[in-house]
Amino acid sequence: MDLTLPITEVKGVGPKTAERLHKVGIFTLKDLIYTFPRDYANYQVAGHISEIRPGKITVRGKIKSLATRRARHRNLSITEGIIYDDTGSIRVVWFNQNYRARQFDEKQEYYFQGVYDFKNGRYQLTSPSAALARDIDAKSAFSPIYVAHSTLKSPFFVKLLQNLRPNFVKIPDLLPSSPENPPFVKQSARAEALYKVHFPENPQEVIEAREYLAYEELFEYILAAKLNRQENQKLQSLPLKFDASKTKSFIGKLPFKLTDAQRRATWDILQDLEKSTPMNRLLQGDVGAGKTVVAAIAAHQTAMNHCQAALLAPTAILATQHAEKLEKLLSSLGISVALLTGATKHKTELKKRIKNGEVDLVIGTHALLTDDTTFHSLALCIIDEQHRFGVNQRQKLLLKSPDGLAPHLLSMTATPIPRSLQLTVFGDLDISIINQLPAGRQPITTKIISEINQKPDLYPKINEIIKKGQQVYWICPSIEENPTQETTSVKRQQKHLQTIFSHAKIGLLHGRMKSAEKDQVMTDFANHKLDILVSTTVVEVGVDVPNATAIVIMDAENYGLAQLHQLRGRVGRGDQASFCFLITPADHAPSRRLKEIEKSTDGFYLAEVDLKLRGPGEIYGALQHGILNLQIANLADTRTIALASKYASNFAKHPDNMLKYEELAHDIKKYQQLTTLN
Ligand code: ADP
Ligand code: MG
Repeated sequence: MDLTLPITEVKGVGPKTAERLHKVGIFTLKDLIYTFPRDYANYQVAGHISEIRPGKITVRGKIKSLATRRARHRNLSITEGIIYDDTGSIRVVWFNQNYRARQFDEKQEYYFQGVYDFKNGRYQLTSPSAALARDIDAKSAFSPIYVAHSTLKSPFFVKLLQNLRPNFVKIPDLLPSSPENPPFVKQSARAEALYKVHFPENPQEVIEAREYLAYEELFEYILAAKLNRQENQKLQSLPLKFDASKTKSFIGKLPFKLTDAQRRATWDILQDLEKSTPMNRLLQGDVGAGKTVVAAIAAHQTAMNHCQAALLAPTAILATQHAEKLEKLLSSLGISVALLTGATKHKTELKKRIKNGEVDLVIGTHALLTDDTTFHSLALCIIDEQHRFGVNQRQKLLLKSPDGLAPHLLSMTATPIPRSLQLTVFGDLDISIINQLPAGRQPITTKIISEINQKPDLYPKINEIIKKGQQVYWICPSIEENPTQETTSVKRQQKHLQTIFSHAKIGLLHGRMKSAEKDQVMTDFANHKLDILVSTTVVEVGVDVPNATAIVIMDAENYGLAQLHQLRGRVGRGDQASFCFLITPADHAPSRRLKEIEKSTDGFYLAEVDLKLRGPGEIYGALQHGILNLQIANLADTRTIALASKYASNFAKHPDNMLKYEELAHDIKKYQQLTTLN
């Protein structure tokens, strides 16, 4: 079977259905086959209601008293009812599944499977799967459940895969059995594993199949990383000589003393820059750890070697701030710094100066990436908040170095890559970690507050902060009032806050304002012309106003862990105690995410939690078009990682091997883009 065939080859997929499948990233037979069940309904082990314990449960019973209501806040409908058998009854709840209210016949028995636990003050079975007991025979008692998309529900995937089922035996091997692969890589092992994942007879089959597929998956990612590292070693770049006395003198002029962690990271980088093979280093440091100054020292070394450096930032606000700071640090040493954003005036003139090498350090946004921005001798690329950029954008920047040479690359991020990912997918990156905040930082106190109206103690607290001469960020998810969404808008919030804090100067910032306007507001806030800045998440990354000591985040449930941590990182940047208030709807228990944020300010810990809650694809692949999409492998599975790593190393010694493995070669190419310098 040719796995690259389009999805229209599957019985039951016409052009319309194909289009819907394309929307969820399924184009080929392989894409469909690698859409794994998110779970399995197991009706083989149903218990009596009187015996159930919290956790994942299966029960057989009838249902009554079903009704749907709207939640007061947010776009949520709740369908509730009672499931009962001869021994007892439990409450069942579904969210945004209105059809559940019509699905059931009160006279019939059903199997239900889901998680039974304590929520919102009582025990309930939340969003279980359901199947008519009469329809369940020995075979269907254990069956896959696929992730549902708006128009493509789980049964639809079941049907498509059933249509394809006879062809599963013809699925070719990815890694043929040979001494280059471990002994369990046998002929047809992959076809069997894929079959068992979609059509298992019992849970044990699923476990075995997933183990096999996880191996193949990890092997591919790890091999791609190893090949990248090898290929990078073959590239040439300009060595940038380290000058001890100049560097010392520059560091001595900084307004503060570097932390030990900053020193170590700086040293790693300066040594890399001296080599004639390109640096490919990721600088990780929690928000506020002080990455920018480390980048500045690297840019300084570049300029001392009469070469150019470019710093790419994700927003104009951040680029502007970087430019102002770095200009202050560098211009007195004769290093010329320029800012290039969409709003920059006299662009043509500036681009000419960049091209002629009159500018040593260019700081910019995406505007930097256009084809007509060319450099004289670009030797160092710095990408701030690298996870905000896609593969193509990074590639565009790297290609601006002189012909035949690769620039050194320093990527910076406050969204740390957990160790497990470092060892696998990002195995070709060198990593420096700033695991220490500058001295004198005060801890940030984080508090979940359910619905402002009912918790009036927030406003006095904010008043107190403003009276002390400190400033506040007030984050809302939307710009305008939107009748279909119940989220708070910046515009209304600003008006509302003005009535409460009548003496405060309250500014407004959002993504639909013109660049120049945004810069002005941000500058006003930085210069304390504003007390409160009501803003969307445009202030999320990087922005540094040390006098801001509180951040209020409305509708906090709208944001992911990493984003909340980033937002919170806007405060606690000076030497004053800081606060983060997370506002949630009154009728909802806070999510695990929010509780974790409340508990910890450690970005590395939170990244591990995030990885567990969402998986790596969501976090690190979102902007990279799903390339990083570990579907099945568990990054805590160190045994498989070690094994895959061992065989990938052997394999990488003979890259020509790839010629024999066509599908593998294709996959590897795709994964290599994740971190390649080439
Ligand atoms: P991030 O790592 O989040 O990018 P920044 O580089 O923006 O952090 O630094 C945060 C703040 O800390 C800035 O105001 C910066 O000037 C300051 N800073 C950086 N390093 C130190 C240090 N060693 N001692 C004191 N303040 C520092
Ligand atoms: Mg930063």
